[in-house]
Amino acid sequence: MRHFAVVGSGPAGFYTAEALSKTYGDKARINILDRYPVPYGLIRFGVAPDHQSLKAVSKRYDKVADEPGVDFIGNVTVGRDVSVEELLELYDAVILAIGAPHDRKLGIPGEDLAGVVGSAEFVGWYNGHPEFADLDPPLGGTHAAVIGNGNVALDCARILSKTPHEFEGSDIVGHALEALDGSAIRTVTILGRRGPHQIAMTPKELGELGHLEEASPVVDAADFPPMEADDALEPGHRKSITILREFAGTPADPAKPKRMVFDFFAKPLRIEGNGKAERIIVERTELDENGAARGTGETYEVPASLVITAIGYSTPQMAGVPYDERGGKFRNEGGIIGDRLYAVGWARRGPTGTIGTNRPDGYEVAEQVATAMPAAANSDRAGAEGLKRLLNERGIMPTDYDDWRKIEETEVGQARPGSPREKFVRVEDWLSALGR
Ligand code: NAP
Repeated sequence: MRHFAVVGSGPAGFYTAEALSKTYGDKARINILDRYPVPYGLIRFGVAPDHQSLKAVSKRYDKVADEPGVDFIGNVTVGRDVSVEELLELYDAVILAIGAPHDRKLGIPGEDLAGVVGSAEFVGWYNGHPEFADLDPPLGGTHAAVIGNGNVALDCARILSKTPHEFEGSDIVGHALEALDGSAIRTVTILGRRGPHQIAMTPKELGELGHLEEASPVVDAADFPPMEADDALEPGHRKSITILREFAGTPADPAKPKRMVFDFFAKPLRIEGNGKAERIIVERTELDENGAARGTGETYEVPASLVITAIGYSTPQMAGVPYDERGGKFRNEGGIIGDRLYAVGWARRGPTGTIGTNRPDGYEVAEQVATAMPAAANSDRAGAEGLKRLLNERGIMPTDYDDWRKIEETEVGQARPGSPREKFVRVEDWLSALGR
């Protein structure tokens, strides 16, 4: 029997567990660890609440958790309750699937002002992440800005612009729904340091902005290169650019009070305000010969009492695990960090790709594990039994998948009409739902 620990129960963790389970069958025990009593990582805390079809992938993960050799061990923080070194003693292999939950910093003056929040914080707030439930982003001003031109920037801008009616059927948490309902924000400026051709937004996500109840996208046609330049683009990306061009060719709907303004070639220099964010000083840019943003020296102000930076994420460091500072991920070669230690998903590749990208990624790393550790050989590692002994000595009470199902049942039971669930947003509430 082999013993494997997969640390993290987001998409990368579940696909890896699925692959290991398929490869080893009844010759391995696979433990999926999570710091919270609830699974799914990015699916629960990252994917937008109004994108329920994307969240439905969790049903597939439930099937993995039901496999006889697979066990979920929640409420255990690796790096605090148990170290990676200790896990390596207990398991044949340890696979780190902890994602990239930290916001990258812009590194400009004013970033620490009140009212400037990272997208991980803002997304965590509306998705009920316990670390960010108390964020209370300022929604009392009329102007907000989102910095970045990726899908996360789109998520943040869309959530700020929707009406309560448009959240029907979503699982946005109650505190965020209520706060957004009272929001005074009428203009969300989406700042891109490069041009329309350089966006990292996908067609479906971009297209949604054209159908919002109260908000119109505003795009300046003058920002685009000549139409022929679109021919060289990869088809999916060309579709996004075509949607942007359509936005540019459509006047904002006067019946809609909100605007989502795409401000391209706009590089934030500093954020200013009296003790809190009031405006961003932006430099107009142009593309240099390598396609990078080059400042032109022309500056202007973008008013914003809420500034959300959506410029990418990084993986937190863990004691004893080599780290790639530039990439914001664990240092690894094809998923191998070191002897019996692996990384998958964003912790391996950095924060890019869709949920589905994690599937081949997890399968590839599982294959590396299988090559290094043939199923036939027996290991003398203690696995889950050893881990539970250690946790018991430390007063840590882990949770299992049945516990999660109880929490889920309670969350589903307390949903507002039309919503799939009302999430608990505090660790204590998860545990009290279990009678602890
Ligand atoms: P991303 O796609 O890498 O986009 C990051 C954006 O931030 C880029 O536009 C980048 O511009 C900009 N940026 C980086 N540093 C900057 C700086 N210092 N100043 C100004 N702008 C800066 O990252 P993401 O939006 O966080 O998304 C992460 C991954 O999740 C992506 O693969 C995304 O597609 C995926 N995702 C998918 C969905 C969905 O499918 N519905 C939803 C959310 C996220 P440059 O290009 O100039 O560097």
